[in-house]
Amino acid sequence: MTTPWQLPAGIDCYAVVGYPVAHSKSPRIHQAFARQTGQTLAYLAQEIEPGDFAAAVAEFQRLGGKGLNVTLPFKLEAHDLCAWRSRRAAMAGVVNTLWFEKEGTICGDNTDGIGLVRDLTVNQGMAVVRRRVLLVGAGGAAQGVLPALLAERPARLTITNRTLARAQRLAERVPVAEKGLIEVLPMEALAGRAFDLIINATAASLAGELPPLPDDVLRAGGECYDMMYADEPTVFMQWGTRSGARRSVDGLGMLVEQAAESFFLWRGIRPDSAAVIKELRQS
Ligand code: NAP
Repeated sequence: MTTPWQLPAGIDCYAVVGYPVAHSKSPRIHQAFARQTGQTLAYLAQEIEPGDFAAAVAEFQRLGGKGLNVTLPFKLEAHDLCAWRSRRAAMAGVVNTLWFEKEGTICGDNTDGIGLVRDLTVNQGMAVVRRRVLLVGAGGAAQGVLPALLAERPARLTITNRTLARAQRLAERVPVAEKGLIEVLPMEALAGRAFDLIINATAASLAGELPPLPDDVLRAGGECYDMMYADEPTVFMQWGTRSGARRSVDGLGMLVEQAAESFFLWRGIRPDSAAVIKELRQS
């Protein structure tokens, strides 16, 4: 691997790594947090070739880098690389935030779950507790948020996915004490289930596609949340509105909230996420 890193000298350096990563809003978000909280740091976006992840992390650490955000397709590899993981990251089995202890230990956490739950419950007023929630998707994002969603104690959390076996593997990770809260169903078996809240954790919106959900899967006046975000309403948000959703929102707030939690882990200071969400929406 040729070293991808060009870290500025004399300043704490952080980065988001993924493949691809050029589209990432994370540098903008973390630089806004740094300005807001008076912290001096650099935050880069670095594309890493699949197969080069572990070597790139080691090189970043050797060069004195402080912490990394990890995105597709490296969240599982990041989990496996850590010598220490937070409880929520160990439960999720995927890691999106890395940092290094003084003696070199690689530490990992997953902030996607708390980011989603904060955006849902604090920013959007969309409760999870005692509601029938449908989680669509079983990739890294769904895996990362599952423990945090269950911790909110929904009445029932149903998981569905185009490839059902992947949803079943996800459900197998759930601790025995919480198994009663979840079920796995194929999309065609969801007709008439009238969920209160539907969370789209698939990548379908990226391609302008919809997961093939039955028409009557949302309770009238229910809510829809698409983890994807875009300048215009995503196809899933539009489907939610057509299906009678009271609110149908995108995942920009989750992106900022998960970043805010990473920033807190690294810097010990909590930024004002609402101000940054507003700034991104306006731009
Ligand atoms: P991933 O690991 O590649 O998983 C992709 C998931 O989407 C799988 O469940 C896959 O189903 C499903 N899928 C893909 N195309 C589909 C289609 N056309 N119809 C139905 N299902 C489809 O990706 P990920 O990391 O989980 O990310 C999923 C989405 O969450 C992305 O849009 C990502 O941008 C978003 N995300 C947002 C945030 C945020 O902060 N807002 C954070 C993380 C992720 P199969 O298993 O059948 O392939």
